[in-house]
Amino acid sequence: MAGLEIRDVTVRYGVPTGSTRGRGSTGVTAVDQVSLAVAPGEVVALLGPSGCGKSSLLRAVAGLEPLSGGQVLYDGEDLAGVPVHKRRFGLMFQEGQLFPHRDVRRNVAYGLETQDLSRAERDARVSALLDLVGLAGYEGRSVPTLSGGEQQRVALARALAPRPRLLLLDEPLSALDRQLRERLAGEVRAALVETGTTAVFVTHDHAEAAAVADRVGVMDRGRLLQVAAPDELRAAPASDRVAEFLGLHG
Ligand code: ADP
Ligand code: MG
Repeated sequence: MAGLEIRDVTVRYGVPTGSTRGRGSTGVTAVDQVSLAVAPGEVVALLGPSGCGKSSLLRAVAGLEPLSGGQVLYDGEDLAGVPVHKRRFGLMFQEGQLFPHRDVRRNVAYGLETQDLSRAERDARVSALLDLVGLAGYEGRSVPTLSGGEQQRVALARALAPRPRLLLLDEPLSALDRQLRERLAGEVRAALVETGTTAVFVTHDHAEAAAVADRVGVMDRGRLLQVAAPDELRAAPASDRVAEFLGLHG
């Protein structure tokens, strides 16, 4: 199958691997047998309250967290033996990922360092990426002079620079105020769609999930409760719990 396939993935913490004790299941099951497929070019949001296992699942997909069960596949290949840096996945987090002493150009260019480009090609690509995220002409700006929203746009441009086959975004807008967050969610979606980037976007905000994603997966206590297009979810939530997370209850 093309794209990302998450099969029955379980992530547990606090259970030493190879432990002979632990029959009484000490530790936390952060992700509990989650299955999800993301088609090429599709954007899926994972929505759920703090502590429900969103980051753990994302980290497991990235290869940053060992699986306690299940499989992660990309284009049909099981990634069990493939280290983080060889997965060709991009990562973007809430904040603090830019190099404060590099200007915007050199921050975005960092994402291109593994590619064999001439300086002119690199500069052209940086400018095109800045254009894509609405920051045309920002090349020479220093990071501390940027607003929070501008910094996240630069981080997005940098994450997209190497053309990752999958981009994993963990609450990338959560440090921003609500108004800005809603506008940026739409712009992030536009940038992902325009570049044809396959993506998984984690958030605890249902409006943001609906603005950014083709489909939204609702998570609760490590389980994936329902996955559907935002309209379908609102029209037919599978349970009261899902309805609650969508803000459909008082
Ligand atoms: P979310 O991103 O949805 O807020 P997390 O994946 O961060 O959820 O956490 C899911 C559960 O796993 C929580 O109970 C959290 O306390 C626990 N957890 C997360 N990371 C660790 C860790 N490194 N060690 C132990 N427990 C963890
Ligand atoms: Mg998290």
